[in-house]
Amino acid sequence: MASGCTTLAPPPRKGFDVVVIGAGVFGIWTAYKLHLAGRRVAVIDAVGPAHSNASSGGESRVTRCGYGDKELYSEWAWRSISEWQMLSARTGLPIFHPLGVLWVHTPPSDLVTASARVLKRQNIPFSLLDADAMRQRYPVMRVGPNEVGFLEPAGGALMARRAVQSLASELRASGVTFLSGTVAPIRREQGEQGALRAITTQSGERIEAEQFVFACGPWLDRVCPDAMARRLFVTRQEVFFFSVDAGATGALPVWADLPFYGLPSLEGRGFKVANDTHGPRMDPDTGDRRASAAGEEAARAFLARRFPTLAKAPLSETRVCQYENSANGDFVIDRHPGLDNVWVVGGGSGHGFKHGPAVGSHVAELVTGKAKPREPFLIASKPVQQDRAVQ
Ligand SMILES: Cc1cc2nc3c(=O)[nH]c(=O)nc-3n(C[C@H](O)[C@H](O)[C@H](O)COP(=O)(O)OP(=O)(O)OC[C@H]3O[C@@H](n4cnc5c(N)ncnc54)[C@H](O)[C@@H]3O)c2cc1C
Repeated sequence: MASGCTTLAPPPRKGFDVVVIGAGVFGIWTAYKLHLAGRRVAVIDAVGPAHSNASSGGESRVTRCGYGDKELYSEWAWRSISEWQMLSARTGLPIFHPLGVLWVHTPPSDLVTASARVLKRQNIPFSLLDADAMRQRYPVMRVGPNEVGFLEPAGGALMARRAVQSLASELRASGVTFLSGTVAPIRREQGEQGALRAITTQSGERIEAEQFVFACGPWLDRVCPDAMARRLFVTRQEVFFFSVDAGATGALPVWADLPFYGLPSLEGRGFKVANDTHGPRMDPDTGDRRASAAGEEAARAFLARRFPTLAKAPLSETRVCQYENSANGDFVIDRHPGLDNVWVVGGGSGHGFKHGPAVGSHVAELVTGKAKPREPFLIASKPVQQDRAVQ
């Protein structure tokens, strides 16, 4: 017999100018910039700011300005450094460690030559070190006779999770609404006269706003399939931390000897070694997050060559994260193709973190009508075949 009871859907949440979906580095800086611009903002995340499976959820990320001839990224990285410093100062927490960044290479390197040209034009400091100078400054590093170093003294390391979570706390304290929920995928057919009225969560909550920013990291293709299906290449990346006292590596900066790069031990975490080569495709929800023996072996072989005294250091921690690559490594920052009040932001491609402040500024300008979508971030310019062009 029917009970006569009906379950009423909860009333929609209203009153927001903009809802940002995703509280990773791109979403949180976007929310911050929109809040500064006077917009009523809500942030919704399936788990929470910079959680363990999110791309922003690692301990540390490198910030450097050398990008070969991709000058826009040099500009954005440079501009972002001062915002990271200000965030560090506001929170009183070590968010930016100004260690400098050293690229070791054997000339000629097109990437380094073009980076030097761009940084000079942009008045961003750098210097070139010969093999002897590197040996003198960084005795822990083995340097070959023909190798040189490209040193960016203003670069360094960002404490990734702490940065995102600190900015989220600041926003919460200043009245920005934070919601928890998994937002259901959006489709262009949901639009009314080309605009999305509301998003819904998997638990049935409906949230209305004037505009929506989807900054869903490695889930972006699932949540915005019309925009991103087949345009996101999520790869599995392993990171190793070796138990090495910071004192044992002297004044070593962040270093890159591509495809390997890493950091001296920060805050006792261990000497970080990562391989920037794209790993196999990975599902961010179900992918295996245990590092492989083969990955450790490759990291140790690298240490034996470059940092021989560290090659047998005990492993203190491993992490498996994912890069959410666009086809060529350029970010995606564009209007949804079919929903005029929806913005799609992502494709950090293994180098996005440092640019959080600049990405947030650009997205806020798009949302407030002060800027137009621009190359190289347009969805239409992103092929469905992967061909990495941004390092
Ligand atoms: C191992 C590794 C090393 C890296 N090193 C560097 C580096 O040295 N320098 C650098 O600049 N960058 C680096 N990066 C890249 C950088 O970390 C990423 O580009 C950046 O963190 C991406 O941020 P995001 O905000 O786009 O995504 P995320 O941080 O993944 O955030 C997306 C958020 O969206 C939420 N979400 C997704 N779907 C939904 C939904 N349906 N409903 C609600 N919420 C949803 C998720 O829960 C998540 O919190 C590295 C990345 C990795 C993995």
